[in-house]
Amino acid sequence: MAHLMDSSDALPQEADLRASLRMILKNAIEALGGSAGVVATWDQEERCFTPTYSFGLDERALEQLLPLLEEAVPDLAVSSQSFNALSRILGPPLPKSDQGLILDPIVALPLRVGRRSLGFIYVLRPRSCMAFSAVDQSTLNAFARQAAIAVDNAHLVHNLIEEKSRVESMLEGSAEGMMSLDGRRRLLGFNAAMERMSGHPRRQVLSLPCYHVLNFRDFEGRSICNSDRCPMVTRPDGGPSTCELQGKIQSADGQDIEVAMVYSVNRSRATGRAHSAVINVRDIKRLRETENLRSAFLSMLGHELQTPLSIIKGYTSTLARSDARWNRKTLREGLQVIEEECDRLSKLVNRLLLASRIESRTVTLKKEPVQLSVMATKVVRRLEPVTANHRFEVDFGPDFPEVYADPERMEEVLTNLVDNAIKYSPKGGRITVTGRADAGRVRVTVADEGIGIPRRELGRVFERFRRGENGQVQKVRGMGLGLYICRSIVEAHGGQIEVASEAGKGSQFTFTLPVGGGE
Ligand code: ADP
Repeated sequence: MAHLMDSSDALPQEADLRASLRMILKNAIEALGGSAGVVATWDQEERCFTPTYSFGLDERALEQLLPLLEEAVPDLAVSSQSFNALSRILGPPLPKSDQGLILDPIVALPLRVGRRSLGFIYVLRPRSCMAFSAVDQSTLNAFARQAAIAVDNAHLVHNLIEEKSRVESMLEGSAEGMMSLDGRRRLLGFNAAMERMSGHPRRQVLSLPCYHVLNFRDFEGRSICNSDRCPMVTRPDGGPSTCELQGKIQSADGQDIEVAMVYSVNRSRATGRAHSAVINVRDIKRLRETENLRSAFLSMLGHELQTPLSIIKGYTSTLARSDARWNRKTLREGLQVIEEECDRLSKLVNRLLLASRIESRTVTLKKEPVQLSVMATKVVRRLEPVTANHRFEVDFGPDFPEVYADPERMEEVLTNLVDNAIKYSPKGGRITVTGRADAGRVRVTVADEGIGIPRRELGRVFERFRRGENGQVQKVRGMGLGLYICRSIVEAHGGQIEVASEAGKGSQFTFTLPVGGGE
């Protein structure tokens, strides 16, 4: 995540290490009266020692010298002894220095931090010079210690930078929004997902206080930023180091976005004051919608079960009264109502079972040749008696082909669509079922002249448990499962279903099926 840690700019870089080593080596060569020297460090990736800085040796000399020196490395690594006549170990001739001298006396010491060997420092004298003494060795030791500290620091910084960029790229690539804040709640980091979610371009919001940018409020609209509910505000008890808050933030175009924010706050141990925080921001709109749908569904289900049960209970206890004698007509009517309500309950339970089988993808189709025109007429005949103020029309062309489909399921689709057409045109009107065939597909449309569907709801009517929001729809009993079931059945047959409608102007539901039944 860009700018997650701005202090990184102040960290010393590779060049600083080279500059430090150059200085240490030059001083060491000078102090020891040498004419050349090398600092070699352990390269973690290459798993070998490489010259980090050399003085007085050209590239060719260095190339010859290093493999020879490496042979001595294991000894040095364990014993830290220095040696004068390295030529005896390595074998002559040692390389020429820049000054054209054949080098021979050499002193070498490991760069050590604790028990770790980080590299070696070598100082060489021309062959004509004296061998290095014990005093020279202890002088070099002081330089070796300095160099070791410089190398160790550089490693730490390197690891820190690597770790930082690893964390940053992880956060930047995270599908969830991530922000980081300083102790004054100014935005230091704002990842790509956060930009997408909020619409705020990173460069415009960095270093602004987050409460100016996001205006975090609870679902009732009360500010969280301006209250001590913000985890960055110090409370007498210091406040939590991690917590989750849910509410709304404001997008760049002024829209509310429902989010869950998970705070990880770094606090001063002494004062409890927050000095930085990383916040994970999740868009929970869908989650909340699902929760709302679920609770609306449960209350609807309760109602849908309760109504027929109360009717059945009312009629049975009335008819069962021992102090009353019912005539045949009253008895028959009462039993008829009970039967109807039982049918309603069983239809409801069947729908729920079918919806759950669709969800778990365990619905199997038993396909056979089906005459949809005949089926449509049968469905209309069956439903016609339930309404007095609708006129029905079934219009399938004479050459309407057979389709290969599951008749029970297709009857369910037609029944749902015609039933809805009746339910959602309370003032009556014409209901037509039209069938047409073209290019290997059949199209069946159920049209009514009822209340229609507002444009904003059109895209969602096929969703599970989704019901229209206006009062006219709410007056009608339903669970929001009919169209979901229709769509699942039609799609399982390789077809599609769609709706065209306008509020107050009726609706047309059309499904298509392949003539071959999708085989
Ligand atoms: P239900 O009828 O039980 O609510 P459906 O899944 O059959 O469930 O329908 C979902 C929603 O689509 C309905 O609540 C209603 O708002 C809308 N709808 C369906 N059919 C029609 C129609 N013919 N006219 C107007 N609105 C309709």
